[in-house]
Amino acid sequence: MRGKLLIIGFGPGSSDHITDRAREAIQESDIIIGYKTYVDLIERLLINQEIISTGMTEEVTRAQEAVRRAEQGKKVAVISSGDAGVYGMAGLIYEVLIEKGWKKATGVEVEVIPGISAINSCASLLGAPIMHDACTISLSDHLTPWNLIEKRIEAAAQADFVIALYNPKSGRRTRQIAEAQRILLKYRSSDTPVGLVKSAYRDRQSVEMTNLQDMLNHEIGMLTTVIIGNSSTFFYDDLMITPRGYQRKYTLNQTEQPLKPHQRLRREAEPWALEQLGVSRTLKSQSAAVNVKATAREMAEAALQKIVGEGPAFTEGSFSIEDIQEIFELAVSPGVANKKFTPVQMKVLAEVVGEEGVMEYTPDHQIKLQIPTSNPDQVIEKLLTSGLLLSPIGDVLTLKACDFCDGDKKDSIPYAEEIHEKLGGMDLPKELKIGFNGCGMACYGAVKEDIGIVYRKGAFDLFLGAKTAGRNAHPGQIVAEGIAPDQIVGFVERIIDEYKEKGHPNERFHKFFKRVKRIQGFEYRDVTPKIEIEAAVCGD
Ligand code: SAH
Repeated sequence: MRGKLLIIGFGPGSSDHITDRAREAIQESDIIIGYKTYVDLIERLLINQEIISTGMTEEVTRAQEAVRRAEQGKKVAVISSGDAGVYGMAGLIYEVLIEKGWKKATGVEVEVIPGISAINSCASLLGAPIMHDACTISLSDHLTPWNLIEKRIEAAAQADFVIALYNPKSGRRTRQIAEAQRILLKYRSSDTPVGLVKSAYRDRQSVEMTNLQDMLNHEIGMLTTVIIGNSSTFFYDDLMITPRGYQRKYTLNQTEQPLKPHQRLRREAEPWALEQLGVSRTLKSQSAAVNVKATAREMAEAALQKIVGEGPAFTEGSFSIEDIQEIFELAVSPGVANKKFTPVQMKVLAEVVGEEGVMEYTPDHQIKLQIPTSNPDQVIEKLLTSGLLLSPIGDVLTLKACDFCDGDKKDSIPYAEEIHEKLGGMDLPKELKIGFNGCGMACYGAVKEDIGIVYRKGAFDLFLGAKTAGRNAHPGQIVAEGIAPDQIVGFVERIIDEYKEKGHPNERFHKFFKRVKRIQGFEYRDVTPKIEIEAAVCGD
């Protein structure tokens, strides 16, 4: 009879986290071979198997014994905690078999049964620290030379991997973890989050959160897995979390603007992507920018150029996480009333946006800029010096004024400028546009904005709550006529304050008005068209 080797990873230790197949395999075996502590952990599953655990501290001897017994025709279960293929018995068993000239077709049968490895079980108790590219490094120099381990720590640290350190420390191996910490601190900041999980899903489980600087002041032992975060990992409410990507974007008055989920999938937020490099190159060589896609070869070439053309790919210290540029996003216009760019301004724009950035004209009388840069202050200075008006992007207030008939009807311009100065760029529950037009024609469409202000006969008319988009779009309702010039700015300020304070996150101004029914004493009236039009969502 042909014997069988069942190489089993039984997971972290609790019966809830062992797979059905692992459980079955243990039960169908004649002999169990494993480290004493492991046999104890699965004892409840045993029927009357022969157990070989004592007197064999060496993994190699255990593997040899397992093979010998299987060759005698037995079904032998070799147990590892976690996964048998991660610093477990699977590789060793194959090595012993291969040494004996074993072949799959004729030799003893082998089945490797996967289990939940410590990196996964420990991560689950910490929150979501792995999430992104991660690696495991065992600090045991029992079967691996220390200088190789050192090299791997160095490489992983440099490349910003999340790192799970297995076998971090034992009674006699105490220096390794301190050495690892020293290397990691060369590349990562001292407050990098670190999670320490001991005996995950076993009795005496313990979970601790610390940082790279402090980690050695906590208990670390044989049963601990140490998880080192990458440069983006953070703690939140006793959880350790690594974001799914590196996308970072910021605009004028915020240092960091976390991307909303739908924005994260957009290509323009990822200037470092291989595909982006290819696309910008291809665009340069073709004037028609319609549906140009880089071929795989072009992408590969772009990557090669990055490596070969710009110095050696992997010298010590050649990459640091600061090399990842952030995207500075803002909008520019020539002025509140002025709609004319000068050639010098266009030149400055081209210069600061550069080859890799994006310039997009929008329906808001602005050009939106996306500039990969690590020096936004310099960009801001250049743009301001050329006389451009800068505005942040996102859920902020934007003033859209007309050109006041090219400045001919200029009486109300100071009020538009005052509103822009006081409220422009303010953070709000949702983006909001104030339309400001200098005469009753309102040809720049003030009445179609969230808030409309129209100057007429020396005073202001005020419109609130237009639905600015959709098949059922409608203008704002007129709530006041003939507001005295010295009152208008105060009126608008109070309306905005109320919306800022009471609006729900993401609630557009017209919905807010409809919900609260009254803003600053102005009653909401239903001005939606009488014919029922079914609304359609974006992309419909
Ligand atoms: N095959 C195992 C790893 C064996 S090496 C697996 O895949 O998980 C032994 C190391 O694994 C320990 O030093 C510790 O770092 C880690 N480890 C194993 N089980 C663990 C548990 N329940 N909790 C925390 N760490 C554990």
